[in-house]
Amino acid sequence: MSFKAEYIWIDGTAPTAKLRSKTKILGDDAKGGELPLWGFDGSSTNQAEGHSSDCVLKPVFSCPDPIRGGENVLVLCEVLDIDLAPHASNARAALAETAERFAAQEPVFGIEQEYTFFSGGRPLGFPENGFPAPQGGYYCGVGADEIFGRDIVEAHLDNCLKAGLGICGINAEVMPGQWEFQVGPLAPLEVADQLWVARWLLYRTAEDFGVSATLDPKPVKGDWNGAGAHTNFSTRAMREGPEGYAAILTACESLGEGSKPLDHVKNYGAGIDDRLTGLHETAPWDQYSYGVSDRGASVRIPWQVEKDGKGYIEDRRPNANVDPYVVTRLLVDTCCAALEKAGQV
Ligand code: ADP
Ligand code: MN
Ligand code: MN
Ligand code: MN
Repeated sequence: MSFKAEYIWIDGTAPTAKLRSKTKILGDDAKGGELPLWGFDGSSTNQAEGHSSDCVLKPVFSCPDPIRGGENVLVLCEVLDIDLAPHASNARAALAETAERFAAQEPVFGIEQEYTFFSGGRPLGFPENGFPAPQGGYYCGVGADEIFGRDIVEAHLDNCLKAGLGICGINAEVMPGQWEFQVGPLAPLEVADQLWVARWLLYRTAEDFGVSATLDPKPVKGDWNGAGAHTNFSTRAMREGPEGYAAILTACESLGEGSKPLDHVKNYGAGIDDRLTGLHETAPWDQYSYGVSDRGASVRIPWQVEKDGKGYIEDRRPNANVDPYVVTRLLVDTCCAALEKAGQV
């Protein structure tokens, strides 16, 4: 029997790329084997000019399709030019190289994806006119006065689990209609591929409820939290004692050296200076800091990690709209190079 393969890719929209997808019907012969290359019109996705518009889709990750069920699959692709070299919009290729170079350090990530539901042009749960009660009760709340969209969130969680993604938790966030899911801990390419598929499933699941989801880092101006993508990171040396804590401090220090703070922040998602203001549990975008349990620092060392003398660090700066291929590449590149130099591998 033939089956449906939903080919998903990341487009060339600036400053923040969008997800696109289309369906390919595949025959029995494609089952279990390698999924075929495909193509699309790059002139409709900001990836090519009209006069030479063909781009190539190369499958890099596939999983069961929880929406269609049966033998149908989701297929995440990277975009190539017709000479099969990575397209300019393809950030995965550079991560693959960096991850390979530092694979011996066994880097691992868990990414906390915050997002906001919108309906009728405003966040789900916001009244038609004016504003809801100020922040305070919504985070991890319960009850119809505090929680908006839980049915969608539960459906998305179930879909991620059915797809076999490494989703490890969900919670309601600080603003009404704002939520979070976490993916990981996984190796760099795995966490980034699976986060992109989990994002696609979020949009697709919410679509059936007539609601949209956005990764806008500051969906409501004023005294409302932005949306981030805290990126938790460790290497084998950081996870394993007895020198784990020394490796953790090396990683934290490396992120503050020279031009590193800006190199990172300017690639952590468009509009980051609107979110990293120094208020709402953020550190100012132009000042790097790290600290134990400090949710006002750029990078937090969880209290349990200090107590155990090993574990991971949390980079709190990435925006919700960050490209996971980029943030994981930068963290591996900066921290693993410093750990290698210090002989902490
Ligand atoms: P927070 O208290 O910041 O809200 P969460 O529970 O939302 O924390 O997220 C913690 C994240 O840390 C999860 O995504 C999890 O996968 C990740 N994590 C746990 N252990 C490690 C580790 N050793 N290395 C990298 N990430 C880790
Ligand atoms: Mn969290
Ligand atoms: Mn959060
Ligand atoms: Mn966090």
